[in-house]
Amino acid sequence: MSPVVIAIDLGATKTLVGVGRTSGDLLARVQFPTPIQGSPELAVNEMVLKIRQLLAENNIADDQVNGVAVGAPGPISYPQGIIYDSPNLGWQKFALRQELEQRLGWPVVVEHDVAMAALGEFHFGQMKRYPNLLYVTLSTGVGAGIIINGELYRGSIGGAGEIGHMVIDPHGRLCNCGRRGCTEAIISGTALAIQARELVEQGRATYLQSLAKDGVITAKEIAIAAREGDSDACRLLAQFRENLQLILANLVHIFNPDIIVLGGGVVQGMRDLFFEGIEEEVRAQVFPMHRPGVKIEVTRLGGDIVLYGCLAAGGIWGFE
Ligand SMILES: [Zn+2]
Repeated sequence: MSPVVIAIDLGATKTLVGVGRTSGDLLARVQFPTPIQGSPELAVNEMVLKIRQLLAENNIADDQVNGVAVGAPGPISYPQGIIYDSPNLGWQKFALRQELEQRLGWPVVVEHDVAMAALGEFHFGQMKRYPNLLYVTLSTGVGAGIIINGELYRGSIGGAGEIGHMVIDPHGRLCNCGRRGCTEAIISGTALAIQARELVEQGRATYLQSLAKDGVITAKEIAIAAREGDSDACRLLAQFRENLQLILANLVHIFNPDIIVLGGGVVQGMRDLFFEGIEEEVRAQVFPMHRPGVKIEVTRLGGDIVLYGCLAAGGIWGFE
């Protein structure tokens, strides 16, 4: 049997810890809220505790474990695994790899979560291997994992794939990064929710407002309202779709990938509302030479995609 890997998907709001094999069998997983207040030590304590529990529950001895792979929000240095001033986690320059290695005694790799997801998709998401694959995540943020010629592309210093900060409207909405009109400020789940709240401030979107728990509209309420045919929600989603198509067409022109795979909370939660026909629309926007190669899918790995990427990473790098 292939080696056991501990897989960790560290997120801003929740963390998943799993155990599985490098062949892609996820044996068990557990989810818990990421300790807040920007405290990496608390988060590491919780991870270690859950790892110990999972191993005990699944009768896996320490010497069966090859190593630990972690997908985490950026910016991260590779291979040092230092998480720099992560706006999502609120951590500042935390040596996650070193900390986990000291606490657990196994080798650890830390990779950008979206890059890890792309590895998962490349190895376990598709029936066939597409050597040039883009994984695009749409959730609270927007990012891409890039596989070129069968290998993860990290760029010069590990910063590749930040498509969320590709400006598509220089006079558009203010982004967390300080610039205007970034993709993330326009089509992320957070951006959708902000657009809905703006409608409410203008005295519109009354139905959306009525759905909101504690008065705060999220992407979830937009999806519910759109399914019921609410015109404000449908308009927001039509804009979202139009912008997404534009961004995907840009990516086709830049990367000419074999396949683009979409994932993340917004895609999981709203697939039925925007995905149908998107491949044809993007095909219509790109150069004729690119058209036959346009292939867009939604990941089948769902919310565990980063964990699958960790299993793949354990197999590739072998924790030497
Ligand atoms: Zn930005």
